[in-house]
Amino acid sequence: MYTLLLLIPTTTYRTEDFLEAAKRLDVDVLIASERANVMAGEFPDSLLTLPFNDPAVAAREVLSRTRGRTIDAVVPVDEVTTVAGAAIAAALGLRANPVAAVSATRNKRRMRELLARAGVAAPAFTSFAVTEDPERAARRVRYPCVLKPLGLSASRGVIRADTPSEFAAAFRRIAAILETPELRELGPGADEVLVEAFIPGVEVALEGLLQEGTLTTLALFDKPDPLDGPFFEETIYVTPSRLPGETQAAIRDCTARAARAIGLHDGPIHAELRVNAEGPWVLEIAARSIGGLCSRTLRFGTGLSLEDIILRHALGLPIASLTREARAAGVMMIPIPRAGVLDEVQGLDEARAVPLIEDVTISAHKGQELVPLPEGARYLGFIFSRAETPAEVEAALRSAHARLRFLIR
Ligand code: ADP
Ligand code: CA
Ligand code: CA
Repeated sequence: MYTLLLLIPTTTYRTEDFLEAAKRLDVDVLIASERANVMAGEFPDSLLTLPFNDPAVAAREVLSRTRGRTIDAVVPVDEVTTVAGAAIAAALGLRANPVAAVSATRNKRRMRELLARAGVAAPAFTSFAVTEDPERAARRVRYPCVLKPLGLSASRGVIRADTPSEFAAAFRRIAAILETPELRELGPGADEVLVEAFIPGVEVALEGLLQEGTLTTLALFDKPDPLDGPFFEETIYVTPSRLPGETQAAIRDCTARAARAIGLHDGPIHAELRVNAEGPWVLEIAARSIGGLCSRTLRFGTGLSLEDIILRHALGLPIASLTREARAAGVMMIPIPRAGVLDEVQGLDEARAVPLIEDVTISAHKGQELVPLPEGARYLGFIFSRAETPAEVEAALRSAHARLRFLIR
């Protein structure tokens, strides 16, 4: 029987979906987390505690803790475990992306350098030490621009600036985010601010699977809400894309070249691109699948989930189909309307009763402190829809969202 090692950070939304996919396979499952947690009850003999932010130590730990036991695949279920996943796979001699390539996806400046070197269309960029004088830095860039930390995700700390004074304010705000103790642990990546040219255009997300260097698009999502800043809150994702076929082909090619430039060749990727008259531009490519609960929009062949596909690929098992179902599908990551403490969510039943809505999941809990962008990083919840067309999906998501009321203290 195969043994599968799942790297499940405590902050992920994906635990349940990956564990269910693992249970559908006839495999032994080992679970690693950065802290002992509730899953210890469910899998008492198979829980490891690993320092995900120190990949070399995590890899040594796995080798010593599993001596004599064969591990057939390592699957990091979320962004913060991808580098540890690559290091562990390398230590075990498994086929996986090189650690350097995966590390580059976690460092936005490094990613920009590799894309530029390979001639992949991506924003022009420069970077500053976080200790730099913001007013001085503001005089050395072009506008509009986007400032961002190197190692965060979910648009945390990503801020557009149109003028030097907006730049200086954004710079200070990012410096403050990087000062929080939780983020200082990030180490080297936390002492720099990346500044990029603002790329106008529509935005898409490509969910893909790399198999020995060949990219298959699993889904291309449109993001129909304008993302013009100053903060870039993710909201609606709808697939299939309504862009023309040739644009979609250009997006796919651009993503494949980006993966090659970075050195990724196997496993799931999640890429974000902007498209304008000049063609597609790569904003980023991650060595993981789509975040939050968004994978629940996807079904393949006769009912495989995205997690089924990822686990089967990692174990080298046959995959019946990588073709998404014919219907349109979408998700809304429910935006945080303002800062405060969540008291109550009203209108859930009405939202769930909206035609073409599959589910509404509130992931924030009562009493939770809600932190909007650019400082925050969690979603209020997710709304799911499936319909014949992308337009119907989008309309259903908006209509369900309009029925929700968040009481925030
Ligand atoms: P994260 O890893 O936190 O998601 P990204 O670099 O993907 O950070 O930026 C988040 C969002 O900010 C993007 O999805 C996009 O909407 C916007 N954005 C980031 N960089 C640029 C840019 N150079 N031009 C235009 N929009 C950008
Ligand atoms: Ca990212
Ligand atoms: Ca992103």
